[in-house]
Amino acid sequence: MRKKQFKAESKKLLDMMINSIYTHKEIFLRELISNASDATDKLYFKSLTDGGINADELQIRIDIDKEARTLTVSDKGIGMTAEELESNLGTIAKSDSLNFKNENKDNENIENLEVIGQFGVGFYSSFMVADRVEVISRALGSDSANKWVSEGVEGYTVEPCEKEETGTTVILHIKKSTETEDYEQYLDQYRIEDLVKKYSDYIRYPIVMEIESQVPDKENKGEWLTEVNEETLNSRVPLWRKNKNEIKPEEYNEFYKQKFYDYTDPMLVIHSKTEGQATFDALLFIPENVPMDYYSKEYEKGLQLYSNGVLIMDKCSDLLPDYFGFVRGLVDSADLTLNISREVLQHDHQLKIIAKAIDKKIKSELTKLLKNDREKYEKLFKTFGVQLKWGIYADYGMNKEGLKDLILFKSSNGGYATLKEYTERMADSQNDIYYACGESEEKIALLPQVEAVKEKGYEVLFCTDDVDEFAIQMLMEYNGKHFANIQKDEVDLSTDAEKEAMKEKNESSKELLDKMKESLGGEVSAVKFTNKLGSHAVALSAEGYVSLEMAKVLSQMPGGNEGVKAQLVLEINSEHPIVKKLEGADEETLNKYTKILYNQARLIAGLSIDNPTEFADMICEMM
Ligand code: ADP
Ligand code: MG
Repeated sequence: MRKKQFKAESKKLLDMMINSIYTHKEIFLRELISNASDATDKLYFKSLTDGGINADELQIRIDIDKEARTLTVSDKGIGMTAEELESNLGTIAKSDSLNFKNENKDNENIENLEVIGQFGVGFYSSFMVADRVEVISRALGSDSANKWVSEGVEGYTVEPCEKEETGTTVILHIKKSTETEDYEQYLDQYRIEDLVKKYSDYIRYPIVMEIESQVPDKENKGEWLTEVNEETLNSRVPLWRKNKNEIKPEEYNEFYKQKFYDYTDPMLVIHSKTEGQATFDALLFIPENVPMDYYSKEYEKGLQLYSNGVLIMDKCSDLLPDYFGFVRGLVDSADLTLNISREVLQHDHQLKIIAKAIDKKIKSELTKLLKNDREKYEKLFKTFGVQLKWGIYADYGMNKEGLKDLILFKSSNGGYATLKEYTERMADSQNDIYYACGESEEKIALLPQVEAVKEKGYEVLFCTDDVDEFAIQMLMEYNGKHFANIQKDEVDLSTDAEKEAMKEKNESSKELLDKMKESLGGEVSAVKFTNKLGSHAVALSAEGYVSLEMAKVLSQMPGGNEGVKAQLVLEINSEHPIVKKLEGADEETLNKYTKILYNQARLIAGLSIDNPTEFADMICEMM
């Protein structure tokens, strides 16, 4: 019998498979089962029109023969004729596989074999674990069968043989284990069971295998008997394919906990069917708690990616934007009909469409939650809201439009406010969205500037997270209203007349203020009288782009942005009794008072002071 050669490109791929150092060799089983399932589908659809096939009998069988060292996968599918065996198994027919080859053509030894697992290269993957592969097939409507045999790149043979039923049987002669590679595992029933569960759990035909187990012998106490039972290994119907209203909340919760190794029920479940540019089911979960490793480098965002119930990637990171990195779940694309192989999904375009739809879906669900269950939304936001704010800031603000209505800020009105709520209740006389920054809500509420703005009847947003002000800077405005940091020098809510009066006061006190500034030796860029502090004596504000809070955040960042300093302005309440004291003080006392006021202002702003001991001494001295 003449040995035939593989087509050139097949040979290359096959060669890669045989010499593969790829760590996920186990995927070969997924590939064979998928092929069996595809072939069964084809038969099933034919039977819908032709009749004569009992769908209940359709199943996929796995047999292990430890002695012969074979692992066999058989189906009752459509089968292949001799010509089909040649053309399907002797050539890579599909353009996708060819793409794979083209993409890699400059890379002769293809070191990065990780791609194999991602591309789903199909039948040839069996050569990763087998040194001889036999395919016995009988095509539907044919009364003869054929056997295809290959031991690798040398070529293959096809010859007629006997087979009773329609369908295909693939026999793998499993390689001998080496020092570095354990192939015995593929002859172990438990291992095979696990692999089916892992990759092929939702194949819709039963995948059956004979499982041997030891049971106590009833007649001879203390003895054990070997019992063999045929078991169905896969659970077949994926939860996400079921109708939403047939699924109980507990079912979702159990599924989530089991699949994503969490102890707590998810906070939010999103189950959706999408049709259109891309057709897919998505089942997404927002956890109750921040995943343990979320802030570590080890955390990988991503969704499981299924193709018609077959797992093809465990963490497909392209499916989630970073700001939704905390979302767990899976996507199953039903797009992959029989003639589209799984590789297609790996193509950027398809994935991007799905990713975009998922992004949109999560946003719309969050919007709904915000509207319908405020309490729950706030809870969710407390846990993951920072991510959304980073999302606004990241990528040069590319995503800010989609996220700006999902973020919340603590407000001087009590509780959380959205930007929409804030702008809607703004007074007519109010031009800007006011905010202030600090360590905590409580501390910000006590800032002199906040008190003064509140007295005017305006609401203030509290920025307590490092990211808050960066997000605000990126937003620039909301609904035409600009943001104003009330700890900034240029933000002034007084009337024109008041402004004028204050200007005069500052000008007439220029000598005094300059002296005070000098005595602080370059710590501040100005000392000023203001009317922005309510009943309080002093506060710090910042001039220019960098706010107090931003300077704090930047200086704490690794790599130290030490050059980034806020230009501080020491503001003194012009109505406060302290002013009289300052005006009446001799030079030495003025220096002391200035130092005390400045240090007080720093403490109020949440900044540390250089010499606390000296500060304490000065206060005691005055007492
Ligand atoms: P893909 O499944 O992506 O098309 P494979 O390399 O897995 O690529 O399979 C190549 C082709 O061989 C399939 O498209 C199919 O036509 C045929 N084939 C493989 N396994 C079977 C099978 N069990 N029954 C019928 N045809 C099969
Ligand atoms: Mg395949």
